[in-house]
Amino acid sequence: MRQSKLLLPTMKEDPADAEVISHKLMLRAGVMRQLASGLYTWLPLGLRVLRKIETIIREEMNASGAQEVLMPVVQPAELWQDSGRWEKMGPEMLRLQDRHERDFCLGPTHEEVITDLFRREIQSYKELPVNYYQIQTKFRDERRPRFGVMRAREFTMKDGYSFHADQASFDATYQDMYNCYSRILTRMGLDYRAVEADTGNIGGANSHEFHVLAASGEDTIVYASAGPYAANLEKAESAPPQTRAEPSETMHEVDTPEQKTITAVCELLDMTADRTIKTLIVRGIDGPLAIILRGDHELNEIKAGKLPGVAQPFAFASDDEIIAATGTQPGSIGPVNSKIPYLVDREAAAISDFVCGANVDGKHLAGVNWVRDVDLEDAQIVDARNVMEGDPAPDGQGELKFLKGIEVGHIFQLGTVYSAAMDANVLDQDGQSLTPTMGCYGMGVTRLVAAVIEQNHDADGIAWPLPLAPFQLHVIALNYHKSDAVQAAADQLYSAAGERGLEVLLDDRDERPGVKFAEADLIGIPYRIVVGDRGLKNGVVEFKARGAAEATEVSLDAVLDQVLDQMLDQTTV
Ligand code: ATP
Ligand code: MG
Repeated sequence: MRQSKLLLPTMKEDPADAEVISHKLMLRAGVMRQLASGLYTWLPLGLRVLRKIETIIREEMNASGAQEVLMPVVQPAELWQDSGRWEKMGPEMLRLQDRHERDFCLGPTHEEVITDLFRREIQSYKELPVNYYQIQTKFRDERRPRFGVMRAREFTMKDGYSFHADQASFDATYQDMYNCYSRILTRMGLDYRAVEADTGNIGGANSHEFHVLAASGEDTIVYASAGPYAANLEKAESAPPQTRAEPSETMHEVDTPEQKTITAVCELLDMTADRTIKTLIVRGIDGPLAIILRGDHELNEIKAGKLPGVAQPFAFASDDEIIAATGTQPGSIGPVNSKIPYLVDREAAAISDFVCGANVDGKHLAGVNWVRDVDLEDAQIVDARNVMEGDPAPDGQGELKFLKGIEVGHIFQLGTVYSAAMDANVLDQDGQSLTPTMGCYGMGVTRLVAAVIEQNHDADGIAWPLPLAPFQLHVIALNYHKSDAVQAAADQLYSAAGERGLEVLLDDRDERPGVKFAEADLIGIPYRIVVGDRGLKNGVVEFKARGAAEATEVSLDAVLDQVLDQMLDQTTV
């Protein structure tokens, strides 16, 4: 490709509205452009990268036995009514009507459509297992589209769905998909982690997310310093706490007229928050419920949402609801003489001689102890908190550490939720109806482009990993329009490189060298050859890999061999 003909609008300065580096660089390097909030146009450079990612995904999915299909973006409401999700899906699903006023949606995901295909085409257990996937546009009207294509409204997903006669068959395919995702991300040169994940409302034991490690990641991933344990913070657990010490203080009331927070109470009493407990009031199925945590711990809303008696969707009680249920202002609530049922986090249940709200406005209690002062027998002891760095790993292997990750893939078990709701049954060996168990495997294709840049850039711009680079070789011709020698040599290199199978971009524009070099660094093609009059006099050109500190002089005749040699080294390491 000749750069003079390429739609490659670059920007010198960081665009004001881009927060993360990948978003800035994708705009500056002419990878994509925003059309409206969460909607992007892929420009030629970006599209080439996107296609390479799709190719890797396709090759690995096909190799693992999955079959590619392509389902419509527009989906009829009837299917979603069948599965029961037409009502359940919130405003993330964009709904529309056709000219006959029939309801449709833009597919945020494709479980309904694939299950409908399955129930029409597959009748017998003998045809199972099956695993279908597509690479398709999704639309989700995200509450907060941000970070460019990382959280867009329209985006490309690889989504796959498998159907099985039994659990063992599901488990085998799940493992195949786990391995397939690992191979895809490895081929892309990404530093990633697979972590145990929350299964959402679906349940099921198996669920893993694949995270690309990056400081800008929206997810916190937790891993053990000395063992294999790794999980999303939403799901992560620590080893259970030590047993509780015997009481050593007597319970006594303290005045806390202004102290409404744990920090303020700790300051007044000159103590640390791990010797206090906090009482959070949430909406329960039969009225407000208290969840009790150690003062320095944070509630995990995903875990809390699954606790017995907690209402769906998870929500905190309002101040008015709290006052109505407890007779006390938020700020002074505690478990001693509580008027409402409470669930106690196991870490909170493991401390003694602690401070808590007194259920009297402006008062706290100190020297409080479970059993002696507060009933623990009727309370449920639960795990409701976010783990913290330094907590012991659940399997006892080391301590927990945190990293930030970008979720690029999620594989999980759907069970029979869709197959049962949509009557997608097959006949088993006895001619009886069998409801297949399903798996679901998502990968964020457009999000991956951003994730790749988060891990592959420097102060000057993007540094594409070779397998994903829009072009492999950048030939930069200096003075192309004035020097016949440069033009002849650059054109000759360009066609020779093409003939040898290289994807090459020729900078044949009438621009100053400084501009060409800066833009070359910005768009980040892995190898660069600079052709100029000065070198050509001695039969040499300059060769440089994107990350290398210095360029080297190489004879014009040998330079392509050198590029190909280095590429070969890269792909064989
Ligand atoms: P998130 O928690 O980031 O919203 P999700 O749980 O909604 O993700 P899934 O429904 O599992 O995501 O979708 C599969 C994959 O699609 C995700 O792992 C992610 O890589 C990608 N994805 C999801 N939402 C978006 C989005 N708004 N923009 C770009 N990619 C997305
Ligand atoms: Mg989401």
